[in-house]
Amino acid sequence: MQVEIVPCLSDNYAYVLTAPGSRQAVVVDASEAAPVRAALQRSGLELVAILSTHHHPDHVGGNEELVREFPRARVFAFGTDRGRLPALTDGLSDDARFDVGGFEFRALHIPGHTLGAVAYVGADCVFTGDTLFVAGCGRLFEGSASQMYDSLNEKLARLPDATRVFCGHEYTAKNLEFAAHMEPGNAAVRAKAERVAALRARGEPSVPSTIAEERATNPFMRCQSPEILEQVAEDLAGDRSPQAVLGAVRRAKDRYR
Ligand code: ZN
Ligand code: FE
Repeated sequence: MQVEIVPCLSDNYAYVLTAPGSRQAVVVDASEAAPVRAALQRSGLELVAILSTHHHPDHVGGNEELVREFPRARVFAFGTDRGRLPALTDGLSDDARFDVGGFEFRALHIPGHTLGAVAYVGADCVFTGDTLFVAGCGRLFEGSASQMYDSLNEKLARLPDATRVFCGHEYTAKNLEFAAHMEPGNAAVRAKAERVAALRARGEPSVPSTIAEERATNPFMRCQSPEILEQVAEDLAGDRSPQAVLGAVRRAKDRYR
């Protein structure tokens, strides 16, 4: 799977996916039409599908306009987002499989940031929207801490270690700063922060990460870490379950800077 990273708005990423030798493109999260259209035109590609990770405007802002230009294009999203996700044609359920653009994708329902959030797994890649960020996770706008725990730890963390992780925003440097604050003894966090600082200094994206790297560095996938437990102990009110820890880490992140 060839993945072109298309910066949109201030810090969003859209992704243009093509199979080798194919002129058909699948776009994950058409944040806005213009940069996505430009990327398609540069490579002479026909848009056949948009995969929307959730209904927030910074992820679907280009849907209507792109579908007008490419009337054959289908728009995939989680089924319950019908009515609030522009141009949706194919509502998905958890674990639904579908073929488009020369790929087979699997939808993973990952509620937490929103109730209709979905990840797309295809080839060795996963597209996680605002649920899993590199070294972080999205705010709990609609779901609970327990739902976010399951989405990150029972679903995404169980994908193969080498799975490449593409997320919705370039928040990595700030997320790693918070990760280091939560786990000062985590050498993998320090090493990754250095790598990401070098990438960002050259203007390059921090994506993709991998599932293995997320398990090693992402505080929301490390709710059993003794250092993290200690950091949030006062906020746990006796409930030391990993779900409660995730909730406390999320609250700490909301307050951080
Ligand atoms: Zn969002
Ligand atoms: Fe977003």
